[in-house]
Amino acid sequence: MDYDIAIIGLGPAGATLARLLKPGLKVLALDKKQQCGEEGFQKPCGGLLATDAQRSFVRFGVNLPTSVLADPQIFSVKTYDLQTRLIRNYQRTYVNINRHRFDLWLKTLIPASVDIRHDSLCRKITRRDDGLYHLRFTDSGTEQEAVVKYVVGADGANSMLRRMLYPDHEIRKYLSIQQWFVDKHPVPFYSCIFDNAVTDCYAWSMSKDGYFILGGAFAMKNGNQQFETLKTRLEPYSFTFGDVVKTEKCIVLCPSKMTDFRCGKDNVFLIGEAAGFISASSLEGISYAFDSAEILSKILNAEHAFPHRAYQKGTLKLRLKLFGKIVKAAILTSPLLRGLIMRSKISHVDMTTQK
Ligand SMILES: Cc1cc2nc3c(=O)[nH]c(=O)nc-3n(C[C@H](O)[C@H](O)[C@H](O)COP(=O)(O)OP(=O)(O)OC[C@H]3O[C@@H](n4cnc5c(N)ncnc54)[C@H](O)[C@@H]3O)c2cc1C
Repeated sequence: MDYDIAIIGLGPAGATLARLLKPGLKVLALDKKQQCGEEGFQKPCGGLLATDAQRSFVRFGVNLPTSVLADPQIFSVKTYDLQTRLIRNYQRTYVNINRHRFDLWLKTLIPASVDIRHDSLCRKITRRDDGLYHLRFTDSGTEQEAVVKYVVGADGANSMLRRMLYPDHEIRKYLSIQQWFVDKHPVPFYSCIFDNAVTDCYAWSMSKDGYFILGGAFAMKNGNQQFETLKTRLEPYSFTFGDVVKTEKCIVLCPSKMTDFRCGKDNVFLIGEAAGFISASSLEGISYAFDSAEILSKILNAEHAFPHRAYQKGTLKLRLKLFGKIVKAAILTSPLLRGLIMRSKISHVDMTTQK
């Protein structure tokens, strides 16, 4: 056996697990992102750190360097309901970050005891007769192999580990599209957009470092077309787009039932979005990536006799919280219930200067 643990993917989940594992464990960590420059894989993301993610940093005793912050910091989310044409303004305390710089910074916190391979793609994992796992991966272009006891799937929404363990399980997923424009709005803002004519999920926008980003989660089959329709439908609301600077697309998971959360089996563990740990109501997933990594690190560090049972139990609270988000999503995406909430003006903050 070459390693005790192999972590596949160093996004917020994998990088946190790699940072928290004790030095006595022999850990291999593979990540397809390059560690320097703007080339290579970058995770499309809104890059807003919710309060739960901020709380994880409190627990970790880690401060956020200003180098990962984006400009400006915004304290409210304008919520648009295109069916009722209602607009409400809700106070939110997100931290606006540059997601790629954030991911690279998280990787710098991993201790030297972990064997990190950047720009490395895990290609194949097979279980041997003795129960150990055989990994094939490329490391800066060369083919490599390793034999490990435990594998951790921290490889995000399109997880190969999740597909390997649960080939017949279908989780609800959307095509997520984000387009970047030079920001021409007089005052930068965040928005959350509900429009059941284009998606039964939701869309969003944010301003970041001089760019305006419009994003949304759409049905897989006609997502591109619905995204263009949404842009047209937003023009009367003073959304200004102009030339497209870049377009990003990826799958985003949106759990719809308790069994969509999968913790792993047979010495393979799933954390973060690979496990389905993402909020169905806001598509916020960084905090759940942190939380699941933290829970698993404690179990692996303790060299628990029944680690799967312990991880299943350890994540129960997190899974119940995420189930609550499924219920919340059902309410928010229902035009009737959403209309009632927005009409009630609960939590709405009136703006003294309307732009
Ligand atoms: C458009 C969009 C906007 C979002 N906005 C927000 C937001 O504002 N706030 C928020 O909290 N959440 C947001 N989310 C959700 C959030 O991005 C994810 O939940 C979060 O990134 C999950 O972290 P993770 O570490 O589990 O997976 P990921 O961040 O997806 O990381 C997985 C990593 O695995 C690596 N990888 C994958 N496959 C392989 C392989 N075969 N070999 C080697 N490496 C591999 C990749 O390098 C990748 O970085 C958004 C999601 C989308 C799609």
